[in-house]
Amino acid sequence: MYQKTRAWIELNMENLAYNVEQMKSRLPGNCRLMPAVKANAYGHGMIPVAKALNKLGIRDFCVAAAKEGAELRKAGIEGEILVLGYTHPEAFPLLLKYDLTQTVVDASYARLLAGYGKKFKVHISVDTGMRRLGERSEHLSSILSFWEYQNLAITGLYSHLCVADSLSPMDIQFTLMQFQRFDTIIDALRQKGINGFATHIQSSYGFLNYPEFHYDYIRPGIALYGCNSLLSDQPRLTLSLRPVLSLKARLGSVRPLLPGESAGYGLTYTALRPMVIGTASIGYADGIPRSLSSNGYALLRGRRVPIIGRICMDQLLLDVTEISDAAPMDEVVFIGRSSFTQDDQTFSDEIKAEELALQGQTISNEILSCLGERLDRVVL
Ligand SMILES: *Cc1c(COP(=O)(O)O)cnc(C)c1O
Repeated sequence: MYQKTRAWIELNMENLAYNVEQMKSRLPGNCRLMPAVKANAYGHGMIPVAKALNKLGIRDFCVAAAKEGAELRKAGIEGEILVLGYTHPEAFPLLLKYDLTQTVVDASYARLLAGYGKKFKVHISVDTGMRRLGERSEHLSSILSFWEYQNLAITGLYSHLCVADSLSPMDIQFTLMQFQRFDTIIDALRQKGINGFATHIQSSYGFLNYPEFHYDYIRPGIALYGCNSLLSDQPRLTLSLRPVLSLKARLGSVRPLLPGESAGYGLTYTALRPMVIGTASIGYADGIPRSLSSNGYALLRGRRVPIIGRICMDQLLLDVTEISDAAPMDEVVFIGRSSFTQDDQTFSDEIKAEELALQGQTISNEILSCLGERLDRVVL
């Protein structure tokens, strides 16, 4: 009840299952998926997505914050949960209470965790070139020393690629160097007789562009949700991934805009001819980028309609002049497919998250992860 009444997300879990299968079919037998369900599962809804993945047999997840891990546990999610980001000591109790695995972000952080007085499950992050988190890969003796801490139960070693989405020769060279630095650390640890830790370095593009590199896990986010980061991305490994998410809203009102009249905040849009405009119940607080003001499209009854004027916090205006019979309560699609049949004529069109991102001068990861809490999440 009350779902699909204002603005909502539809989750196609069959497509999620399909994407999981597609990716699994290209992984070597012993490599497993550790999906990134951070940022509310890229806006999809962390709990419904993690539950669906748990049912598909996924036992490992990664999140950005300890708080996210705690929420997953409270919802009954089983398996390993790796916190990829920094956790402040005040939040260490969350790691213990909810059995989360914390990333060791550098040597001083290893000391901090080890000195807290409780035993933590951790993965060691190695900085192979991104210069964000991780102990620098050339600090081998420092990394080795982490194994001497009694209070660190080290179950994994990982790194992160920063230009794996690019296939320019320079970026390929850089990525291959990152793999090499990672492998050097793994080899050195094994030579010292240190084993029993899982390894991972590839996220979506690390896997799709470098599928020949094999570790214990891959950490896919955007690809699992069936999207590319950019419309122009063509990864080396082309899997037919299917978008999981659709974004829709109701048309609340349909009204004329007379020639010479302007509409919306700032009166930035002026009608040059008799027009019909529709007010959709969705705005930038729901995650429609304000930069799409007079610069984007939605789908109504299977056809494209322009967004006109400034996007408001909770509403936006559409030019529906070309859609005869456009009416309040009509469904407007912002991401996904819209199909409509009238008088033996069928209209159908699709807007992908990648297209919205291009129009809003960002990447689909940002579009998706900024979709608001206020949206209903409807599992199909
Ligand atoms: C977000 C994130 C991922 C997932 O990235 P995608 O590009 O969406 O696949 C993997 N690893 C780390 C460390 C991340 O921060």
